[in-house]
Amino acid sequence: MIKLKLAIQKSGRLHDDSVAFIEKCGINLPINKAILTAESPNFPIQLLFLRDDDIPSFVENGVADIGIVGLNEVAEQSKNIDIIKELGFSKCRLSLAVPKSFPYQELTDLNGLKIATSYPHILQKFLKENQIQAIIQQISGSVEIAPSVGLAESIFDIVSSGSTLISNGLKEIHTVMKSQAVLVCNKNLDSEKRQIVDKLLFRMQALLEAKNFKYIMFNFPNESKETIVNIIPGMKSPTIVPLGDEKWSALHSVVEENLFWLKIEELKKAGAEDIVVLPIEKIIK
Ligand code: ATP
Ligand code: MG
Repeated sequence: MIKLKLAIQKSGRLHDDSVAFIEKCGINLPINKAILTAESPNFPIQLLFLRDDDIPSFVENGVADIGIVGLNEVAEQSKNIDIIKELGFSKCRLSLAVPKSFPYQELTDLNGLKIATSYPHILQKFLKENQIQAIIQQISGSVEIAPSVGLAESIFDIVSSGSTLISNGLKEIHTVMKSQAVLVCNKNLDSEKRQIVDKLLFRMQALLEAKNFKYIMFNFPNESKETIVNIIPGMKSPTIVPLGDEKWSALHSVVEENLFWLKIEELKKAGAEDIVVLPIEKIIK
């Protein structure tokens, strides 16, 4: 039977979340770190474990059919591949930073400086777009130490919490791009492989959809029914069940995570009590 070849990082910051994400899609993986490939017993997929730098080119030339890699790496390499899904993990940003003591005010302050980075193409494009003349010093790692060892006056690197910058005496001055893990796909898959990709995307979508919602249950006095239903309209319409006390009902529905606290405040004002909120694992529309 034909199998879809999915490239993921062998070890590093993307590895664990990539494996967890695939497993949450109901795909079992017999992971043995000593080997560089693994086949799922319950989904037509073969995993290839690679350095993250190699994933875009392996997907471009068809050695892998799809891959999970950071958008930063995809943007840096600009290979001829499709980005087919944002996966919502490994969120970080690519930012410019300077030593804390640098009197930074605006981007033009970077003119004439040396900037150390592992992302020379993204940086070059950004400098060109902003008409800044700086010298790009390409290094493959430990970029944060470049200013303190005199290699460069500024850096351009991955930031997530910013604590690495702070502990190296640096301050973030400008975010150039936001990144997260993405699913990339070869441009010339045959229809059989496309069908497997579509199955995988369907499962991924159910997980990603669920992440933005919570399941909510609460009791409310019947006279507030209209107000309550306006606050929580649900996917089609909320489930309302009568309680033993005929003056009260219970409502079950889903609510968007980013509106959650706002909705709770409105519900309480409308007389809702005993509010219970649960995480949702998957939503299939
Ligand atoms: P490899 O050995 O596979 O080449 P690497 O050392 O190049 O790995 P990692 O540090 O494991 O890369 O990071 C892999 C990806 O994880 C990055 O390209 C980025 O997309 C994401 N990432 C890196 N640092 C962070 C962070 N602090 N928070 C969230 N995501 C991050
Ligand atoms: Mg790498």
